[in-house]
Amino acid sequence: MRRLCVHTITTKPLPLEECLVEFPKRGVTGITLWRQALEGRDPAAVRLQVADAGMEVVSLCRGGFFPAATADGRRSAVEDNLRAIELAHAVGAPLVVLVCGAVPGQPLAESRRQIAEGIGAVLPAADAAGVRLAIEPLHPMYADDRSAVSTMRQAHEICDALGSPVGLGIAVDAYHVWWDPELEEQIALAGRKGRLHAFHICDWRTPTTDLLNDRGLMGEGCINLREMSRWVDAAGFTGHREVEIFSDRWWAGDQRAFLDAIAASYAQLYHE
Ligand code: ZN
Repeated sequence: MRRLCVHTITTKPLPLEECLVEFPKRGVTGITLWRQALEGRDPAAVRLQVADAGMEVVSLCRGGFFPAATADGRRSAVEDNLRAIELAHAVGAPLVVLVCGAVPGQPLAESRRQIAEGIGAVLPAADAAGVRLAIEPLHPMYADDRSAVSTMRQAHEICDALGSPVGLGIAVDAYHVWWDPELEEQIALAGRKGRLHAFHICDWRTPTTDLLNDRGLMGEGCINLREMSRWVDAAGFTGHREVEIFSDRWWAGDQRAFLDAIAASYAQLYHE
């Protein structure tokens, strides 16, 4: 369980304080903090509480949503990302994950141009804060309003367009990219370029009943996580495997039982 990380959103009904108690009981060593889990809390105090719980902060979710129809909208997106970087620094998160955004009706290529521009505007602040950024390609079903970046290839293109800054990489989320015929080579490329910043795991259920909140626990769906994890490891990634599950079904039940199921399913997949 050495590389097991759980996102606070995965156990959304649990307040952060309970996550800090319940996660380590199951051998979880990493925690990814969602901004809403930090609301009303002092980030510097949370940083210490996570360390006291024997875990490390793996990343902060999330920044992004750069494209907007107006210059004002794009400016306020940049400001929000600067706040996310500041928060990551304060809470001890080495990485901010970017859900890059899209504007319905705006050409996707234009949204990607605005995404590159927005990332370029916040990179100096991220560098200064010692915080890395990771573009997370999202499944194309979200290309209307959540992310004009649907593939690893497009994420690489944005890194390239910005001159391959060291602090900018990619978050590989199994749920979003499992279908991509280029996945193995794009993961390998991310490894070679030093861009493999995060690996998120869950599963794709059939039939999927909700486009957002019907993710499966590992093993409940059709994603070949063993194979994908081999590719990620072969690319040199040694970081946490982050369990990120949005699920109305699991959220409706007992979160401690859910955490038990996460630990059991992780232990089945990975022998560490
Ligand atoms: Zn993710």
